[in-house]
Amino acid sequence: MSDCIIVGGGLAGLSAALTLAQHRVDIELIATSTADTRVARLSATTYYPGGSNAASGASLVEHIRSQIQSSKGKITTDTVQKIEAVENGFQVTLASGATRQCRTVIAATGLLHHGHTALPGEDKFFGKGVFYHLKVDAPLYFGKTLVATGKTADIVERLLPYAQGFEKIYLIVPATKLDMTEPLQQQLQKCPNVEIIYSASLKDIQGLAEVGTVIIQAAGQERQLHAQAVWIPTHGHIGNSEWLGNLTNLSDSKTPLVSAQLATSCPGLFACGDLLCAEYQHPSLTAAQGVAAALSAIQHLNG
Ligand SMILES: Cc1cc2nc3c(=O)[nH]c(=O)nc-3n(C[C@H](O)[C@H](O)[C@H](O)COP(=O)(O)OP(=O)(O)OC[C@H]3O[C@@H](n4cnc5c(N)ncnc54)[C@H](O)[C@@H]3O)c2cc1C
Repeated sequence: MSDCIIVGGGLAGLSAALTLAQHRVDIELIATSTADTRVARLSATTYYPGGSNAASGASLVEHIRSQIQSSKGKITTDTVQKIEAVENGFQVTLASGATRQCRTVIAATGLLHHGHTALPGEDKFFGKGVFYHLKVDAPLYFGKTLVATGKTADIVERLLPYAQGFEKIYLIVPATKLDMTEPLQQQLQKCPNVEIIYSASLKDIQGLAEVGTVIIQAAGQERQLHAQAVWIPTHGHIGNSEWLGNLTNLSDSKTPLVSAQLATSCPGLFACGDLLCAEYQHPSLTAAQGVAAALSAIQHLNG
């Protein structure tokens, strides 16, 4: 029986695993492929203290994985299908059919999009021009041309505080007019760098390594916009928690309910990262949560 199994190899799981391994805790990180973690898809690590344009998210992931292995942490590529409580801990069943027993578990399996069909190019250019969180990511694209889409007050209220930072903003409105109060429309129209294109929709996001062109359909015609950034407003998210079954209390959006120490309602089970669907999803916060979950697991192991 190992001391801790960490499920999920994104920044949350990696940070938790590294912290535990450095504390000489006997751990196993069980993760599906490196490539499907959110951070591995980012072309640069400028969002991260000490990161740079030269270091990609994938290289950061590889670096942390080798740090874990150098600290004698075990990494297994597999998918956890099920977890059950057993005497003194948990039994974890993997897709390969193997099982593991451990004293504590840290869940770091990220979140799932809910009710949103990705545009052509959206997944390919995620983190390479395509972003979802204005609050977190807008500054990374300041000075560039942004394409945003929407017709409601909610979209414009979110966009306005950042509008000045962009060289130009194309607002693609999927209607003949904006659906908001007159004063808000006037505020938007006063921004000299905002061009509103009515009766239009996004069709495709194209580029080489990063976003370069956005194809829209406007008034029945296809049009190419030269842009380096595309903001896709966030839609509903749910926690990727099906594998947890009924082991712990979940919110309506399927996220484990946790204490300030990231402990779930099931003793010995901790959760961190995007799985918690917190308001702010930022790589630094995610990594910090992984550390906090690891320290809480150590406290639990020490009784
Ligand atoms: C929609 C969205 C958009 C974002 N956009 C940006 C952005 O543009 N720029 C930016 O800097 N940050 C962005 N972030 C923030 C940042 O990428 C995340 O906060 C952080 O990287 C998430 O790390 P994580 O480890 O919690 O989850 P993830 O990176 O999602 O990692 C979870 C891992 O767990 C694995 N997994 C899932 N289920 C199982 C299982 N049963 N068994 C084993 N493994 C499993 C998954 O395959 C995945 O590899 C975004 C976050 C989200 C949710």
